Amino acid sequence: MKIIGIGWNYPKHNNEMGRNFVPSEPTIFLMPDSALLKGNKPFFVPEFSSDVQYETEVVLCISKLGKCIDEKFAHRYYDQVALGVDFTARDLQNVAKEKGKPWAIAKGFDGSAVLGDFINISELPDRNAINFTLEKNGETVQVGNTKDMLFTFDFLVSYCSRFFTLKTGDLIYTGTPAGVGPVVPGDRLVGKMEGKTMFDFNCK
Ligand code: ZN
Repeated sequence: MKIIGIGWNYPKHNNEMGRNFVPSEPTIFLMPDSALLKGNKPFFVPEFSSDVQYETEVVLCISKLGKCIDEKFAHRYYDQVALGVDFTARDLQNVAKEKGKPWAIAKGFDGSAVLGDFINISELPDRNAINFTLEKNGETVQVGNTKDMLFTFDFLVSYCSRFFTLKTGDLIYTGTPAGVGPVVPGDRLVGKMEGKTMFDFNCK
């Protein structure tokens, strides 16, 4: 399986990162399967970074094989969503950005792709407007709604499938809203979707 990440998909997050223009195409990056961290296992903050940050994101799980999927049929290729965290070594990413290098080590290190419980998308009140939050040590630090995304789930599935054949079980992390920030050992992160807890784990 592969893990696809989407960058710059929420305008307020783009602004907080100092990007004030609207991208014409999504920013895509890949993470290895070794990045996956499931089952509310602890996240070990890596020693190679002094600025590891959380990014809470809705995750799509691809449910069937597809290539060059038309946007109007894209909804048939995923039926479950999860809430996850795209942990980012911001200091390594900033160096990569300055030097025009790939984000691979800043985004794809071990444990960097936290995956919570899945929910059937048909069980959500509005598949195009999913509310989600992140609490750090009991304080709400991110509040998102997928209606604010620059590129919709269907567009992203269609776009990604132009370049990569999508396979059952592939994951797409659809970008983070504003409010990203650092984690240190001892932090507890709780993610909720429509008020329901989707992950709850500790940083060590
Ligand atoms: Zn992200």
